Amino acid sequence: MSDISAPHQSSTKGGASSLAARVLELIASGQATSRTELAEHLGAAPSTISLTISQLVDRGLVAEQGTRTSTGGRPRKVLRLGGTGDFAVSADLGGSHARIGIVLPGGRLTDVSTVPFAIADGPETALSHLSETLEALAERRGRDLLRGVGLSLPGPVDGDSGVVTLPSRMPGWHRFPVAAWLEERFGVPAVADNDANCMAVGEHAFQPVERRQSIMVKIGSAIGAGIIVDGRLYRGATGAAGDITHVRIDAAGDIPCSCGNTGCLETVASGAALVRILRERGADVVSTQDVVRLASDADPEATRAVRQAGRYLGQVLSVNVNFFNPDAVYLGGILSTLEPFVAAVRSQLYEGSHPLMTKHLAIERASLGADAGLFGAGQFALQRALTRALDGATGTAPFPAAPTGA
Ligand SMILES: [Zn+2]
Repeated sequence: MSDISAPHQSSTKGGASSLAARVLELIASGQATSRTELAEHLGAAPSTISLTISQLVDRGLVAEQGTRTSTGGRPRKVLRLGGTGDFAVSADLGGSHARIGIVLPGGRLTDVSTVPFAIADGPETALSHLSETLEALAERRGRDLLRGVGLSLPGPVDGDSGVVTLPSRMPGWHRFPVAAWLEERFGVPAVADNDANCMAVGEHAFQPVERRQSIMVKIGSAIGAGIIVDGRLYRGATGAAGDITHVRIDAAGDIPCSCGNTGCLETVASGAALVRILRERGADVVSTQDVVRLASDADPEATRAVRQAGRYLGQVLSVNVNFFNPDAVYLGGILSTLEPFVAAVRSQLYEGSHPLMTKHLAIERASLGADAGLFGAGQFALQRALTRALDGATGTAPFPAAPTGA
């Protein structure tokens, strides 16, 4: 029986190296700092974890640091990544601005600021300007210790290749190889991913270990979702998992959508939809920010529209919750700052889901707020750098930089 194997099982994947990659990922994100926590996260035997750790320590990828006293128990050694001072620069791109910052191994975000960024200028021009700003940020921290660059983009991106595909709100970006462009520019591993995915990963790293299954929904001009399954991002068969914005709902009738179809959730529940709806009712709004401003001022018409949008989103989400049975639904993006919106999503979720699904379900605003995507993109960058280091480490340089060029 031992010579029988499934035809599509790869012998180069899985096993020890994928365990090592997961261990590095959990230490880098700050989700685990000890062998015990790693064993708990990965469901692996403590002896297996210890063996993997000692191999990573030998290769300089992991180091042990002092001790931490666990409550009442014996002091434990704290694990950290091998390189001291290593960091990634990260950016979360919007239509007219970007949030940038530095992400440190162990789950810390620092030096966060907002800078102008014109997505409509197209990738070459927009990214050139952004790169200058990110370079300056890296210089201040110590350019030699820059290990990766992470970008969160408001459109569909192939996470593996970092290529933008069919973005409806990013003219000129279709097929642009963002990650490869950044790698050539910076000479370190780079990652570009969709904003909802980045937010899901960033938020997950900050949540309790027990929350292993979650849905992160970003509600801005459009609607996106990122899915965490067993503690890891789930991408689906073609990388489009979580794209709930184009789910068709009855209430949307035949309203045309940015995707070319009609009747999508986006046409009745997104920021763009609220702008359209309120303008039809005579309100002076041109952007999602305007809608949020009106609703924050308790304008009755805006509040009513926002609440209705929350109900539509909750309706679609309840189907997903019934199907997926997550521990948590996190709400992010600018509309999630409005209490009437969040309350409507929550009540619709409770109403539309089986009690077994909502018994322990947490429905919360993203605890990282506007920084979830920024932090997640930085996490992706550190993970990519670590995977490269794991594949190509010579044992001399912990967490080495990738060679320049793609
Ligand atoms: Zn659509």
